[in-house]
Amino acid sequence: QRASFSGSFPEDPATAIIGGGMSGLACAWALAQSGLRCTVFDTGEHGVGGRLATRSSADGSLRGAPPGLLFDHACQYFTATHPSFQQIVDEWQAAGVVQRWEGPVGRLRGGSFVPDGGQERYMARGGMRQLAEHLAGRASREQRDGSGGLVEVRRPQWVSEARFTPDGWRLAGCGRDQGVYDAVVIAHNGKCANRLAAPMGVPAVAAQLRRLRLAATWVLMAAFRSPVAVPGGMEGAFIQGCQVLAWAGNNTAKLGPGGGRDGVECWTLISTQGYGGTNKVPQENVPADVAQRVAAEMLAAFATALGLPEGALPPVVFTQTQLWGAALPTNSPRVPCIFDPAARVGVCGDWVAEGGSVQAAALSGLALAQRIAAARGRRPDDMADLAQGLTTPLKAVAGEEIGQFP
Ligand SMILES: Cc1cc2nc3c(=O)[nH]c(=O)nc-3n(C[C@H](O)[C@H](O)[C@H](O)COP(=O)(O)OP(=O)(O)OC[C@H]3O[C@@H](n4cnc5c(N)ncnc54)[C@H](O)[C@@H]3O)c2cc1C
Repeated sequence: QRASFSGSFPEDPATAIIGGGMSGLACAWALAQSGLRCTVFDTGEHGVGGRLATRSSADGSLRGAPPGLLFDHACQYFTATHPSFQQIVDEWQAAGVVQRWEGPVGRLRGGSFVPDGGQERYMARGGMRQLAEHLAGRASREQRDGSGGLVEVRRPQWVSEARFTPDGWRLAGCGRDQGVYDAVVIAHNGKCANRLAAPMGVPAVAAQLRRLRLAATWVLMAAFRSPVAVPGGMEGAFIQGCQVLAWAGNNTAKLGPGGGRDGVECWTLISTQGYGGTNKVPQENVPADVAQRVAAEMLAAFATALGLPEGALPPVVFTQTQLWGAALPTNSPRVPCIFDPAARVGVCGDWVAEGGSVQAAALSGLALAQRIAAARGRRPDDMADLAQGLTTPLKAVAGEEIGQFP
């Protein structure tokens, strides 16, 4: 049965946003800016943010780690090429949450490092998750007539069902009812989103989600007992000519005190998508021998990229691998957002707008919030112009191995 409401879009809709990564949080913030209420549901055990992910010994998010370790273990930095995103980044900078990453970042091959000049790169102080927490906190404080926060964040909360009823969308997760909402935003992707959308009665939305192809990557968080010998003061590098590694980033240099201590250096190594694909295992249950082999291969590839002989890296005091099974989109409809106004269901996320980047995710969330705000009070037969991205074909996206950020 196709989900379609017979009445006008509510003037004061309550929106459920399923996913508290950059896109969902940007959507929540923009809705609140328009004076609209929403509830953000996110599965994150350690915090909101999704792929704006940080792990630290301080908050217990690293298993068995010594004190003082800090890693950005997905997004490494972001860029802003779109004026409206740049404006938001400027606000984050003014709030002291984000700053430029000045350290040399470039291309590394066989010990030769060539810095990329000219591009402004941004990082979040204390790690990427701090940016997500800032957004969630700021959105929650947004008020209307002093009547209390417009955004509620529920975490960790998985949403497994969104059922159409004539009164609204009834959400459930972990065996518990999560309430009824006028509109639903799907701000995540992959198998989970496909399972959620399939029975919702929104065939065009579900089909677009199913068309998305995602690449897997392995991430190795490695803390070295002493500083790694790098060429040219390198703090981050895209690795060239290597089948295993795509990126190496020095969190200690980037994040400053707290990102390693007593000379310990915390590095994030990210695999190529090819390596992620050939070494894919069930993400929920990574066999220990696979994790060990992957860690060894990624460390060996790092040494080779640095032009060091085998065994020349400093000893590691801690390693942890993570397989991001749905790390990066490889195709995109390249629309601002996906919106079915008759069903009051939308989709935002990096993959919708242009590919794996913080900018794409944020812009997509903002665009969807605008559509929802614009739908207020409109009759079902007068909303066709608000529909977006429901049939736009998805095309391959190109970019860096760790995303399509500009
Ligand atoms: C290894 C790696 C490195 C990257 N490096 C960069 C980089 O350097 N620069 C850059 O710009 N971009 C980078 N990216 C891409 C960037 O991180 C993403 O494009 C962006 O963060 C995606 O945001 P999102 O909101 O679309 O999705 P996500 O961050 O994936 O957010 C989705 C959220 O939904 C939650 N969720 C899922 N299912 C449910 C459910 N059923 N109920 C409730 N919650 C649910 C998830 O837990 C998650 O928190 C990188 C990505 C990876 C994986």
